[in-house]
Amino acid sequence: MVLASAPGGLEPRELPDPEPGPGELLLEVLACGVCRTDLHIVDAELPDPKLPLVPGHQIVGRVVSGGERFEPGARVGVPWLGGVDGSCRFCRSGRENLCEQAVFTGYTRDGGYAQLAAADERFCFPVPEGYPDLQAAPLLCAGLIGYRALRLAGDAERLGLYGFGAAAHIICQVARHQGRRVFAVTRPGDEEGRAFALSLGAEWAGGSDERPPEELDAALIFAPAGELVPLALAAVGRGGTVVCAGIHMSDIPSFPYELLWEERVLRSVANLTRRDGEEFLDLAPRVPVRTEVEAHPLADANEALERLRTGRVRGAAVLVP
Ligand SMILES: [Zn+2]
Ligand SMILES: [Zn+2]
Repeated sequence: MVLASAPGGLEPRELPDPEPGPGELLLEVLACGVCRTDLHIVDAELPDPKLPLVPGHQIVGRVVSGGERFEPGARVGVPWLGGVDGSCRFCRSGRENLCEQAVFTGYTRDGGYAQLAAADERFCFPVPEGYPDLQAAPLLCAGLIGYRALRLAGDAERLGLYGFGAAAHIICQVARHQGRRVFAVTRPGDEEGRAFALSLGAEWAGGSDERPPEELDAALIFAPAGELVPLALAAVGRGGTVVCAGIHMSDIPSFPYELLWEERVLRSVANLTRRDGEEFLDLAPRVPVRTEVEAHPLADANEALERLRTGRVRGAAVLVP
């Protein structure tokens, strides 16, 4: 499924097989998760995608050829971070997520909304055993970048999750496993979303028009809605942290300095490092994280994106070629 120009819809196209470069794997795509970032790309909210583009950066694939780390037949996961230069000041200081020359799967190189994909094997992960292809796909971005956001929240005990989609439904389980208390904030009136959050261990779930019943130590904002930022700052206590976990967000309304005062921290999380991936994929089966997915045929990618846009996906949407 190809994005020819942005903004735009995806169209089915017959493309030549990808030709893996040195150090790259040729993969048969088994499943590819749908991420909100894909929506930001097709809506032209992110600048300069490769065009035409095959989107998709939560690929579970089977190795067809190539590679020293992975044998043919091995199941690998391909995440958003598709490559770095290894030499810039960020790479050299353990912050490859901020690499100035990074390439991104399904954004600046072709991704997994396809039958075949190529990927640099140094950025691929072994898929944890015990996760079928569909259930593994959302671990690769929703899980992984959600986990990085959780780590940036420090040792917060009372954790707010704003927006209860693919990332929050995974991170809620991880946070409970770590002994944290979870407060979920959904769209006002989203009864199904509340019930879903409570079923995964949140002790309270309410709309963004309500304030959680206790002061929070940290809040993770997964919804791309800037108006949640002052609300989350108002909900965290002194020294609390608010992490914006998405790649794009609508403008943040102005707010009184008082909301930031007393050493509250407001920050974003960008991309992932390979270490984040290794840590999270090691942790997920031990929680154990169970992902809830809805499968769509690859040809229905536009419908899957539309369901995500309108908040109708429970858990994560995954495309199957
Ligand atoms: Zn993503
Ligand atoms: Zn770099």
